Amino acid sequence: MDRLLLHACCGPCSTSCVERLRTMDIEPVLYFANDNLATREEYDKRLDAIRSFAQAAGVELHAKPYDHDAWRAAVRGLEDEPEGGRRCDACFRHSLAAAAEAAAKGGFEGFSTTLSVSPHKNSPRLFAAGHAVERPGCPFVEHDFKKRNGFLRSVQLAAEYGLYRQTFCGCEFSCQGENPRFRNPNPAADNQTLDFGLRTSDSRAAAPVGRSGQAVVELVVAMLAILVIVGGLLQLVLLAHADTETMAEATAQASDAAASKGSFADTFSAIRDWEAGRDNLLLTPDDREVGGSLAHPRNDIASRTAPAGDWSALDDATHTDIRSFAERGSTAAFGFVHARAERDVEVLPLSGPLFGLHQATTGNDVWMVKVNDLY
Ligand code: SF4
Repeated sequence: MDRLLLHACCGPCSTSCVERLRTMDIEPVLYFANDNLATREEYDKRLDAIRSFAQAAGVELHAKPYDHDAWRAAVRGLEDEPEGGRRCDACFRHSLAAAAEAAAKGGFEGFSTTLSVSPHKNSPRLFAAGHAVERPGCPFVEHDFKKRNGFLRSVQLAAEYGLYRQTFCGCEFSCQGENPRFRNPNPAADNQTLDFGLRTSDSRAAAPVGRSGQAVVELVVAMLAILVIVGGLLQLVLLAHADTETMAEATAQASDAAASKGSFADTFSAIRDWEAGRDNLLLTPDDREVGGSLAHPRNDIASRTAPAGDWSALDDATHTDIRSFAERGSTAAFGFVHARAERDVEVLPLSGPLFGLHQATTGNDVWMVKVNDLY
């Protein structure tokens, strides 16, 4: 078929339909006929988008003058039908009748529609509407453009062309809830007249109340979430501050103890023995704590420091358990001093119930090596 008039509902849907037809060696002419659009403003936005696409893609485009009153007459009595119901069948017939007339007058061999690219449009019902209005010698041609990812392709191409993509089908009955312009301005009152003359039912009027209630709940939840996050961060800052203070205080106390005459610590829980783990290498993530013996830290200290100088005074240390030095009190040649500092941290009002905190204490232990009275 050389001459096909393609009824076009909008720019985005036209993109993949034109591309598909061109792969079939059909060069369509676009016909924008959309009396169904709720407002002149929406009609102009969609017309601008399809003009932009037609220009970029080099497709011939014609547009039917907008006549929403004619469309309202075509769907009279079907206003309360749900989207996808009988009003849509009448809507298809109205738009396709305009396309059929233009195709016959223009000497086209047939006409089709981009509407079939939408996953929301039932193709067999669209085709039935097309056949119902076709003229002798100018049939409706069935193209199911949604097949083989036609819709997905239209989304990709519309983004590439930078086209306006609407969020509702088109008529005033399809856009309530999508476009604030079409919402009932006074949902508390029954049977309000909307700005396009549509009268709503009670259930439609109640919808905005539900939405605003949900919005308030979402706002409260969001504010609570922010409070929890800020409270948690504040609690962490308080804990970190107290931790830094106790570390500084314990270090100062341990330094004093190491620098002055006095006894060594009699336990040394800070350093333990470690097994190398499966990789047979120490200081790797799979090391395992053994605990108890002080032989390893003693040997470690001695072996790392002795070669650098004369450590003969510590001969005993390399062969004797550190604990035995510690037991000798101030006469020991080698040992450790220990200091600990603690702080109570204020528990913030939110942290208590949320994190199960009733009181918080942070503390630090510092161990320092002491050799005779040097450190
Ligand atoms: S929902 Fe879409 S197809 Fe149905 S009547 Fe409205 S504009 Fe037409």
